[in-house]
Amino acid sequence: MMKNIISKSVAGISPSATEETSFLANQLKSQGIDIISFAQGEPDFDTPDNIKEAAISAIKAGFTKYTDVPGIPELRKAVAEKFKRENGIDYESDQIIISNGGKQALYQVFRTICEAGDQVLIPTPCYVSYTEQIKLTGAEPIFFETKEENNFRPTFEEVLANLTPRVKAFIINSPNNPTGSVIEKEQLEKIAKFLVEQGVYIITDEVYEHLVYDGCTHISVASLGKKEKEMSIIVNSVSKTYAMTGWRVGYAAGPREIIKAMNNLQGHAAGNVNSIAQKATVEALNGSQESVVRMVKEYEKRREYLVKRLNQIKGVRCRYPDGAFYTFPNVTALYGKKYDGNIIRSDVDVAKFFLNKAHVAVVPGLAFNYSGHIRFVFAKSMEEIKEGLDRIERAIKDLK
Ligand code: PLP
Repeated sequence: MMKNIISKSVAGISPSATEETSFLANQLKSQGIDIISFAQGEPDFDTPDNIKEAAISAIKAGFTKYTDVPGIPELRKAVAEKFKRENGIDYESDQIIISNGGKQALYQVFRTICEAGDQVLIPTPCYVSYTEQIKLTGAEPIFFETKEENNFRPTFEEVLANLTPRVKAFIINSPNNPTGSVIEKEQLEKIAKFLVEQGVYIITDEVYEHLVYDGCTHISVASLGKKEKEMSIIVNSVSKTYAMTGWRVGYAAGPREIIKAMNNLQGHAAGNVNSIAQKATVEALNGSQESVVRMVKEYEKRREYLVKRLNQIKGVRCRYPDGAFYTFPNVTALYGKKYDGNIIRSDVDVAKFFLNKAHVAVVPGLAFNYSGHIRFVFAKSMEEIKEGLDRIERAIKDLK
């Protein structure tokens, strides 16, 4: 009898819906159609020169061999100093591991602390990879929906109502992908205190921590107290802050026992992160932060323009995101409208309509476990944002 080639756990993975959107958009592009994409969650800026120079120097110096699996000592020290300086948290180097992006760090956290029988509680909308990564460990992701009127910030009451005895970990992603929402200190303290009392670990994904607007501040849950720190694992990355998505450098910090186990896992699954990229990351963290300030200012301008204009479009309702480079407007008022014999019935249909009629790519809310909305990325030039919105406005005017 023929055996199944693909294991059940991997066969159970859904393809990333963000990739599906890119695929459809690329198909149209290959037909010569000019598509404006607000789908890809990455900075449009180039990596700052001082970081590139550090990588070039590393190559020239022959820094091209295997390194320690959890990262070069110089980088782990730079990460520890970053935590102290920016987050007010003390970590020793052996509480830090450098991984291939925040993505690998996240997977290794789940793989290290979760197994069959465990549940991980996630507020939605949420980043696409949490669900599939958790399922791969045998654990079960469970969800609750945050509310649009709360600007998608999870509340203590929601956590309380949805916690089960099987929940091993809770995910905080602030600023959030896809909503940009940032949890306020008061709610964060209440949620963290309660979870710590219940013995639930907090996995805190802080990859967008520097991209905050309107005087909003990011607070790491691990900075709230000794117990909160002991029960938290921070995941972070240089991808978004320093426009370094392709370099693949992320990191995790947390209790020694967990980081040590993650190190054992990484040692066999991947080994060290690219030696040259590690050197570049030392410069990103220790060098001038001027380019970050400049990029954040630019994102802030685009956010202002995008949200204002989205709200002027009939059928679209949009809140101001606190951070990240995403906004997540409500598009339910477009349901029931018709074009070319198609009826719009869902956010997936809205995304298809935008792609086919406006030649604009966005990701439907369903990809983030939250229907009725679509995600716009504003890590795009002002010209593209303007042109994309003009196209959407025209297409919507033609709806019946
Ligand atoms: N976490 C969130 C919320 C993200 O949006 C992303 C990327 O889109 C990541 C983690 C992973 O990013 P990277 O692996 O590039 O560090």
